Amino acid sequence: MLRRFLNLIYPPKCVLCQRILDSNVTDLCHSCRINAREFTHGKRNIPFVAQWTALWYYKDDVRSSIHRFKFRNRRKYAESYARLLAMHMEKEGFADWDVATWIPIGPWRNFRRGYDQAQLICQNLQKETGCQIRRFLKKIRNAPPQSGLADAARRRANVLGAYKAVNPALLEGKRILLLDDVITTGATASECARILLTAGAKSVTLAAVAAARQDKI
Ligand SMILES: [Zn+2]
Repeated sequence: MLRRFLNLIYPPKCVLCQRILDSNVTDLCHSCRINAREFTHGKRNIPFVAQWTALWYYKDDVRSSIHRFKFRNRRKYAESYARLLAMHMEKEGFADWDVATWIPIGPWRNFRRGYDQAQLICQNLQKETGCQIRRFLKKIRNAPPQSGLADAARRRANVLGAYKAVNPALLEGKRILLLDDVITTGATASECARILLTAGAKSVTLAAVAAARQDKI
């Protein structure tokens, strides 16, 4: 009842183009469901990551959607992203993992924003699939934003030592699914995977809502 009432005042919109959704669809409008190109270039090697995928390319409506999600408080998008990502991973055969975790933002940013976007995706993935989730990483140093650094070696150096493993006893021998919102070069994800493996994880699989095109890196 409450949900129906809320839907009247705030009709559900497409997470990509923001059009009001027909009552028989969730998350995406018909047009975006057909036109949003699913990511297919996950073959690029990201050191320490066994395999990786993303739902979409990081551009146009996808880029705007993720910006609203991160900077304009559309935390509800995590529900749609997680649902669509779960379907995408199933389609791509990403099943070799035991526990899901996420690449966290630092405590100060979390306080300012009020939420950690990748954690929200992880929590919604649990709601959607019933998977196990656990915090395994903590950001301990605020590196300058990766977006200002063009070349791959600099991006790798920039994130070195920025994260540490937490709950290592629960990590031992586990196959980890590492979640993030956007993969650009993969330098941050690679550093997090390295830390998880060093702390005892058996393998790290990576999944994100969006990834930059390989030829732009
Ligand atoms: Zn749409």
